[in-house]
Amino acid sequence: MPMDAILDQTRLAADALGPTVVIGEILVEIMAKSRGDGFLEPIELIGPYPSGAPAIFVDQCAKIGGQAAIVASVGDDDFGRINIERLRSDGADVSAISVSPDYPTGSAFVRYRDDGSRDFVYNIGKSAAALVSLTAEVKALFARAGHLHVMGTAFAIPGVWEIMDHAIGVIKLRGGSVSLDPNLRKELLGLGQTQERFARLVDVADLILPSGDELFTAAGVEGEAAAVAALFSRGVTEIALKRGEHGSTFFGADGSRVDCPAFKVTEVDPTGAGDCFGGAYVACRRLGMPVSKALEYANAAGARNVTVQGPMEGAASRLQLDEFITVTPRNRP
Ligand code: ATP
Ligand code: MG
Repeated sequence: MPMDAILDQTRLAADALGPTVVIGEILVEIMAKSRGDGFLEPIELIGPYPSGAPAIFVDQCAKIGGQAAIVASVGDDDFGRINIERLRSDGADVSAISVSPDYPTGSAFVRYRDDGSRDFVYNIGKSAAALVSLTAEVKALFARAGHLHVMGTAFAIPGVWEIMDHAIGVIKLRGGSVSLDPNLRKELLGLGQTQERFARLVDVADLILPSGDELFTAAGVEGEAAAVAALFSRGVTEIALKRGEHGSTFFGADGSRVDCPAFKVTEVDPTGAGDCFGGAYVACRRLGMPVSKALEYANAAGARNVTVQGPMEGAASRLQLDEFITVTPRNRP
């Protein structure tokens, strides 16, 4: 491939082939208003906010103008309704969200400690979020999808592997592509066949979006250059590496590299930055934008989201991001 081929022309399937699909958890987030340790005394809370990493990804993907859909399950309750309404009004395809009559929508209570770490009380595994299954609506969505985005957080859902395998088969057969955000918690890697299955996902992925050291986990190799080379030897064609307040870096299988400095913002709530980055990057590339433009929008989407309280409250339209890019200074690389 000539040098500028990957920079200008992605291997990801064009937006016109069909929506970017993500499979995983929809949650509400309820946040402590004060910093401190856990939930061991009555404290003021604020929420519910629509949440769940896959939901944030798909919301940002749709808001920036990409076709986007989510396979997920919620309860027949207000927590489910605020999520479905938010995703629908931001332009996401919600046809493959199932509504459980028996189980409540998943939730995460979160409180920041003084040192910036977080305490959580989760209800995911025994909530509607865990009930994702291969319904007729889900099959119909895969049959018209153009791209599958896999998020490591979804591996906590039992049965998700079978659905992903099915989706990959159907979507690849129609010329679609696959991306992987390996936001996999180390505790999950030890479970069952997770390691082997994760390796198979790396093998089918066209694009990988790791954050920091996840690059090494995904590649199974330490060191940036070695990890990047290992991923390219397995068929990956692009890597978008997230570096938090240091911005992001693109690596192409043809040896190309693009560094994009971060925007200078005041972080109010870091949750969701990586998901907004991913949603924007995948949408922009599938819409045919060159790497430099896609990275700029992705950095802007991540940075803007951390300036707003609530995990997906800062997701932005293309117009809002254009304005953000115009008025926000960059961190020095
Ligand atoms: P998360 O923290 O949500 O799990 P992540 O670790 O996958 O996300 P980050 O690298 O934290 O991903 O954020 C994604 C992108 O968002 C970064 O590459 C950067 O462009 C932008 N970003 C995140 N945090 C900041 C920040 N404090 N200042 C400026 N930009 C930021
Ligand atoms: Mg981060």
